[in-house]
Amino acid sequence: MGKLFGLIGHPVGHSMSPFMHNDQFANLGIDGHYHAFDVHPKDLEAAIQGIRVLGISGFNITIPHKVNVIQYLDEVDEEAKQIGAVNTVVNKNGKLIGYNTDGKGFVVSLMQLAGDSVLHKKMLLVGAGGAARGIYITLARLGVQHIDIANRTVEKANELIASCSFPITSNALSIIEAEKNLFNYEIIINTTSVGMSPQTGMIPIDLKNMKAGTILSDIIYNPIETKWLKLGRSLGGVVQNGVGMFVGQGALAFELWTGQKPDFKGMEKIVRTQLGGN
Ligand code: NAP
Repeated sequence: MGKLFGLIGHPVGHSMSPFMHNDQFANLGIDGHYHAFDVHPKDLEAAIQGIRVLGISGFNITIPHKVNVIQYLDEVDEEAKQIGAVNTVVNKNGKLIGYNTDGKGFVVSLMQLAGDSVLHKKMLLVGAGGAARGIYITLARLGVQHIDIANRTVEKANELIASCSFPITSNALSIIEAEKNLFNYEIIINTTSVGMSPQTGMIPIDLKNMKAGTILSDIIYNPIETKWLKLGRSLGGVVQNGVGMFVGQGALAFELWTGQKPDFKGMEKIVRTQLGGN
């Protein structure tokens, strides 16, 4: 009998995960199917109970359930506990175990662009929301020595820094402070939603003080190239969009569910096609 996998979130109508995972099941000859389920926050507990009863083998969690789902799981792995959010659940013989593959997915994609040496570079994270949390804790866990965090609400950057139990030095900055000293950083990561469709005319941080050759990674993938990345490219930055992170988190989830490594490039291609890129 085939295995069922899925995504729960609200909304999920535009998700690319079903295309990405179903394509891999077909290519690898796995008898599995992935479906996106729109679950309103008031129905989260019932949905998890439904997953148990129906024996769904694994699922992803997206906005707004990544934190609230934790209370309904049987176990949460150490990294997801540190991050405080779960985006992947494995049903192991009836036991629901939560993981977080967002941060690792980002790191995998950053290393594909710039190699392992990225872990020794001076980084600036722009934003201090859920995605920033996964990326910051994962990078700190991997041994990155210094990451500053700039956010519209500086207090949230301070809270994120204070919550990290791994050895790392970080300053919480306002966007204006970070803009003034942008030449200090070798990698700048936008984790805010500024520039995401439909607000495509905004940029999260100005780049006039950036050094040429700086790596600019924007985790937004819709649009496929934000105004901020276009600006960065024109100023000599090495740019990366959010498709790699999206595919990275999906590939790691796929491996947790099936024990098989999916074809990363194939997943990336199908996502780019869905987004109208090439
Ligand atoms: P979130 O928890 O709501 O955090 C949003 C962040 O954006 C906060 O730092 C917030 O600052 C900042 N922000 C929002 N509107 C702003 C504005 N008008 N001006 C300045 N700052 C603003 O959201 P999230 O879950 O972290 O997601 C953030 C983005 O990452 C989204 O675009 C999402 O699509 C993308 N994402 C991509 C992937 C991927 O796989 N590529 C994965 C996850 C998320 P304050 O703290 O001041 O409110």
